[in-house]
Amino acid sequence: MLLLFDIDMTLTSTGGAGMRAMKAAVTRAFGDRFVPGEVPFAGRLDPLILSDMLASSGLEATPEQLRQVRVSYAQILSEQIAQGDCHALPGVFALLAHLTGELARRPDLTLGLLTGNYEETGRMKLRACGIDQSPFAVSAWGDESPHPAPKRADLVPIAISRDAARRGRTLSPERVIIIGDTPHDVDCAKAHGCRVLGVGTGHSTPQELLARGADHALPNLADTTSVAGWLLSAPGA
Ligand SMILES: [Mg+2]
Repeated sequence: MLLLFDIDMTLTSTGGAGMRAMKAAVTRAFGDRFVPGEVPFAGRLDPLILSDMLASSGLEATPEQLRQVRVSYAQILSEQIAQGDCHALPGVFALLAHLTGELARRPDLTLGLLTGNYEETGRMKLRACGIDQSPFAVSAWGDESPHPAPKRADLVPIAISRDAARRGRTLSPERVIIIGDTPHDVDCAKAHGCRVLGVGTGHSTPQELLARGADHALPNLADTTSVAGWLLSAPGA
């Protein structure tokens, strides 16, 4: 079984620091030619958020400017989360501790990350929230889609193939579970026949995530017994 956790508003909250830092990074590069608008962030890939922010101000960035914005974003995020309200969401520490304990008893179990974050800033958020990253044996990050028009769904086969390289065989899709807080998490799982646990700690309610197609949804991850019980009882082999 492969459990793939989203980061923002599933495991962690940065209190909006991620959004503020990305806007500040674009402002640092483009000055007042950049007019921060209403670009959706939740559940989306960082490179897409960035390109939408630029497009909303009619800006075109060179690859070097995009690289510089990404560097600035990490610098600014680091400063913001040092002084901000970065925390793990309810039940996350206990759930990850429980699942990490299960790794020793269940050789078939892999924990992983599937997130729209760039790797450096995704890891920064987890570190700032005190989450041990060592149990996550596979990951797929927001800039890893091989396609010119990247989608979150592109990350699912990447995570599955990395897991397959470790275990020596490819899991059937129903043995792969995405845990996330947005309709994008549900959609990316369903695009590949994977299962989804929706978590209502972001903008979507459990009912909305169920209506979108989640197999199960909860207000948060606080009930360790119930969450772990559901996650570890996936069908198939
Ligand atoms: Mg999220």
